[in-house]
Amino acid sequence: MDEAEEVAGSLKPPRCPRCGAEIDHLRFFGYELVRADAIFFHNKIEYIRWFSIGDFADDVEYRCPKCDALLFRSEDEALKFFRGEL
Ligand SMILES: [Zn+2]
Repeated sequence: MDEAEEVAGSLKPPRCPRCGAEIDHLRFFGYELVRADAIFFHNKIEYIRWFSIGDFADDVEYRCPKCDALLFRSEDEALKFFRGEL
């Protein structure tokens, strides 16, 4: 086990500042541009062959999985939260 793994293993999961729940993950919401084929099928439009064709837009959210509070708006903040730097 290297030093980074030891540090990670010794850290307790951070707590949500709103509801106090221990958090081992955040719920991520983001917009991603996709491309698909829209076909006419059974009298409806069906979308097939989905492709992601872009990175997430800047407008992202990281929410508490327990209470759904919006906690962070960037990956940098989410990283600091898990590292105990916030
Ligand atoms: Zn919460």
